Amino acid sequence: MSEKPEKLIDKKGLRLDGRKIDELRPVKIEVGVLSNADGSAYIEHGKNKILAAVFGPREMHPKHLSLPDRMVLRCRYHMAPFSVQERKSPAPSRREVELSKVIREALEPAVFVEYYPRSGIDIFVEVLQADGGTRCASITAAALAIADAGIPMRDLVVACAAGKIDDKVVLDLMDTEDKVGVADVPVAFMPNLNAVTLLQMDGILTPDEFESAVNLAIEGCKKIYALQKEALKTKYMNTKEEVEE
Ligand code: ADP
Repeated sequence: MSEKPEKLIDKKGLRLDGRKIDELRPVKIEVGVLSNADGSAYIEHGKNKILAAVFGPREMHPKHLSLPDRMVLRCRYHMAPFSVQERKSPAPSRREVELSKVIREALEPAVFVEYYPRSGIDIFVEVLQADGGTRCASITAAALAIADAGIPMRDLVVACAAGKIDDKVVLDLMDTEDKVGVADVPVAFMPNLNAVTLLQMDGILTPDEFESAVNLAIEGCKKIYALQKEALKTKYMNTKEEVEE
């Protein structure tokens, strides 16, 4: 492991990777990347590389898990053994079980689950490379994979974190900032409904700092939302061209 830096923000106000305090990492998104899934998306958020695949709506297995009046969402967040510097065991960790739950809960409010009683969708998130903020990038990709599967949604869900490093509230913490920093606040957001679907906090912030972090994270979400829409449009333009050929 590399040594922990003492200062995360230099005299010019720049962070370890040269970003300003309110700057996102570069984000690249692609929709419809897997031919065997009903819907899929791939995201690169800084050094994070994450695939999301959606299957369904389909009959639930085991059947007794199905609900009479709505569709069930199941989610598995998994980090590949090679996704972090030291090999991660492929067996599900407590952290992955928690993240699977919070990702599912962040996505569920956006899906018209009542349209598909007695059925379910499975959302698989595979983290190929992790560098802090994987739950947020996973939510951003998984929401697109659900849309790509043609499942009716109230809105997209987009996620981004803000937090505190040294004595400043900053946007989009990467791994070192997450580990050495003071606090991390991941936020998932439905931009058109103006509603938050995930809000967590790891660390300690004053009420004012917390409010600034949430607002900053929402600003970050809005920027990523523009890229989400762009990625969906590109997928449909490509499909249109293929059909017309
Ligand atoms: P998030 O990825 O949503 O920020 P955490 O705060 O739990 O979730 O994790 C922060 C970062 O810690 C991850 O993005 C990843 O880079 C790193 N990390 C997580 N699990 C491991 C692990 N088992 N070994 C090494 N690094 C890990």
